[in-house]
Amino acid sequence: MARRRKIYEGKAKILYEGPEPGTLVQYFKDDATAFNNKKKGTIIGKGVLNNRISEYLMTRLAEIGVPTHFVRRLNMREQVVKEVEILPVEVVVRNIAAGSLSTRLGIAEGTVLPRSIVEYYYKSDELNDPMVSEEHITAFGWAMPHDIDDMLALALRTNDFLSGLFLGVGMKLVDFKVEFGRLYNENGEVRIVLADEISPDSCRLWDTVTDEKMDKDRFRRDLGRVEEAYQEVARRLGILPEGGVADLEGPTAVQ
Ligand code: 5GP
Repeated sequence: MARRRKIYEGKAKILYEGPEPGTLVQYFKDDATAFNNKKKGTIIGKGVLNNRISEYLMTRLAEIGVPTHFVRRLNMREQVVKEVEILPVEVVVRNIAAGSLSTRLGIAEGTVLPRSIVEYYYKSDELNDPMVSEEHITAFGWAMPHDIDDMLALALRTNDFLSGLFLGVGMKLVDFKVEFGRLYNENGEVRIVLADEISPDSCRLWDTVTDEKMDKDRFRRDLGRVEEAYQEVARRLGILPEGGVADLEGPTAVQ
């Protein structure tokens, strides 16, 4: 089988040329990094689980009208996505204080926020993804004002929907990060769609009863049982088959 052309390699994923025009294949690695690459490791089976979890969450979101880049899962570690122009802005939505919000503002981790808070970060490894305002985003041309309106509306809708979805299976959605892309159709029209991934790598998820962390913070903070936490998220979502991750294989990729 001919090798696919690699388009881009990130810390946790690789993008290859897709099987159809306007598509890419997103490959999920087991590699884990934190603190802007200062901490590196491997979470066995993470790529398989994140591929499946992101497929599931993006599919549920599409059903309520949130446009996403997801097309279909190909196999254990790969999914076909629409090729989009990624906006260099990470959108973080927070419901409960944790992580950098707690550190920066001295708000105790676990404090329920008076309302959901949205933050923007400029995607730049060299600059350590600095937090920016809408002013910076529009002044420096990273996105247009109407793009920000779309990102904000979609991020809040995603937050409401996923908060309910996770609550239904015993988890609190503490916060999460999403990325958006510009999708051009054949008529040259453009719209903003949810891209990248939604998984325990990009969300904080706490058990509703014990507040136990079930996400990448277990890796970041050396809490142990990292693989088990990712598996438990999939199990609670009802997408971990009896045989475990080995049973997640989808239809064979036809290239
Ligand atoms: P914090 O700003 O507290 O570090 O992160 C807030 C939320 O966004 C957390 O759920 C965290 O996992 C997610 N997040 C922030 N930056 C990144 C990033 O560069 N990559 C990933 N995967 N998640 C991020």
